[in-house]
Amino acid sequence: MLDYPGKTACIVWFAGCNMACSYCYNPDIVTSKGQMTYDEVLTFLEKRKGLLDAVVLSGGESTRAKEIVEFTKRIKNLGFLVKLDTNGSMPHIVDEMLGMKLIDYVALDFKSLLGNFYRITKSKLFSRFEIVLKRLIESDVAFEVRTTFHDSVLCVSDLEEMCKYLVGKKYQGNYYIQHYFNGSKTIGSLNDSHVRLEDKSIESFGLKVEIRN
Ligand code: SF4
Repeated sequence: MLDYPGKTACIVWFAGCNMACSYCYNPDIVTSKGQMTYDEVLTFLEKRKGLLDAVVLSGGESTRAKEIVEFTKRIKNLGFLVKLDTNGSMPHIVDEMLGMKLIDYVALDFKSLLGNFYRITKSKLFSRFEIVLKRLIESDVAFEVRTTFHDSVLCVSDLEEMCKYLVGKKYQGNYYIQHYFNGSKTIGSLNDSHVRLEDKSIESFGLKVEIRN
């Protein structure tokens, strides 16, 4: 239920990613080649029709996967809702999926503003994130924006600038900030984050901010 608000869902983890975020706790998924074929996943889902409401495409970065649009179409044809977890790096794929009405809910990672983006993600894909954000704001699909907070990569004033940015883009949904939790191997071998945020810790400029976990 946590992965898809209000729905029972299973997660399909896609191998590979075009970012290497220091706090990523899925390094094995990011560097692996995957273990199942699309047909195997679809056979699994077929047997769960009526038991599950939804399928979450997560990873890694699912929108990089070959034939992801066709695969998602087949999931929809089985009658499932689809949630997409994305880092926002593949605008043309998100655009295609939205155009074909293949996605019912999107969780878009907002890693940081441009100034910190490369340091956190080891990628130069901020402009693509901006395109996806704009596309989602203009669409009628339910979506949320979320940021992972670790005090070694972001500070409160960074988060406030990010709120200001979202308000400037006319984003009106919830902005979720989730604390980084130590406990598993991360790409950047991070230690604990020591700053705990509360809803009132951040000047949100009118944005609906919720601190998770
Ligand atoms: S946290 Fe970063 S590296 Fe890990 S899967 Fe998400 S975008 Fe990729």
